Amino acid sequence: MGGEKKARLRLTLFPRAETAIRAGHPWVYADSIKSRNREGETGELAVIYDRRDRFMAIGMFEVESPIRLRILHCGKPVTIDRDFWLGRVRTCLEKREDTVLTPVTNGARVINGESEGFPGIVADKYAGTLVVKVYATSWLARWEEVESVLREVFWPDYLLIRMSRNVAAAAGKYGLAEGFLGEKGDETVIFSENGLQFEAAVLKGQKTGFFLDQRDNRARVELLAAGRDVLNVFSFSGGFSLYAARGGAASVTDLDISPHALESAARNFSLNSDDTRIRDVARHALQADAFRWMDEGSGKYDLIITDPPTLAKRESEREGALRAYRHLNMAAVTRLRAGGVLVAASCSAHVSKDEFFRSIEELAQGSGRLWKELWRSGHAADHPADFREAEYLKAICLEFD
Ligand code: SAH
Repeated sequence: MGGEKKARLRLTLFPRAETAIRAGHPWVYADSIKSRNREGETGELAVIYDRRDRFMAIGMFEVESPIRLRILHCGKPVTIDRDFWLGRVRTCLEKREDTVLTPVTNGARVINGESEGFPGIVADKYAGTLVVKVYATSWLARWEEVESVLREVFWPDYLLIRMSRNVAAAAGKYGLAEGFLGEKGDETVIFSENGLQFEAAVLKGQKTGFFLDQRDNRARVELLAAGRDVLNVFSFSGGFSLYAARGGAASVTDLDISPHALESAARNFSLNSDDTRIRDVARHALQADAFRWMDEGSGKYDLIITDPPTLAKRESEREGALRAYRHLNMAAVTRLRAGGVLVAASCSAHVSKDEFFRSIEELAQGSGRLWKELWRSGHAADHPADFREAEYLKAICLEFD
């Protein structure tokens, strides 16, 4: 290496982008950059100067991504050093202590990306295991510092790093690869959520191994379940079903296309068998394509949850996703007995909460049945979202005569 220290990378933006960043948006796209003093390198810090040549914001530069800069701070100049990160990570933990992380819950999202000043990473903690998922290559360039700060604040027994596909492809350059860093822990970790035990497949499971974002909606479902036959569509590891069983459901049926998901649900039921309501509930597992099964299968239920995987990965898939939500939830309504309840969830960021809620209300209206809304919800408290692209989860609950 050697050589002289390069001058700080300096950018100016086109006016629209400048306004957006001032308003708190965390991303600068490549085509928003009006000028820069030199090429930049992935992971280096870049300063944005405003139209009057004053410091405006600082962020992490990334050559490979259309999101060329991820903002770390906007306002007065700051120094981005270990203390800066330490302060941010501590704030994340403090917000969760005694609120989300309690004696009955030791699984939570502890860092939620851009909305908490960490653009491009999330971290979930399952008991003593911290799983960091990296979506932006720029973090790899400063990984050592970040990891040491995470260890200092969270004291995990085990720490593992997971990466989105593009980041994994670049990781070798930084001497990193997906998996445990330091001491190796178990691939499957048992943790508690509101007093229920669940397993998280931290190394190979979807996301970081569990869908923590539905915690509050699961708790709402528990309150609705007494005496009911419950169908959990896209059940994954049985989260909603366990809560429903504890809430006194007459039966629970998990429906998922993945045999691994259903096996995980069965293990989660076993983990909680000291609760007699969970041990004794009539439990069924259906391995099927839910979109087809909902059209063609048989049976009526009193409570149906639909929580499909994202149906719109990009904006161009938005209309199709809305049609699929309508179709799926209409099929669910026709399977509801009198007095039955539908909980319809969507995790597609490209479908806004307003359009999702409207489309569910419209299909309820079109069902010819009397209905009323019981609640609607968004993200759990450990998943704060402070800009539009970060808001993905929404759920609505309707009761039908
Ligand atoms: N409700 C779950 C999370 C659902 S994740 C929870 O609370 O944890 C989405 C699930 O949908 C995954 O388990 C995936 O295996 C399943 N899935 C994806 N496509 C499917 C399909 N066509 N039919 C049924 N299940 C499907």
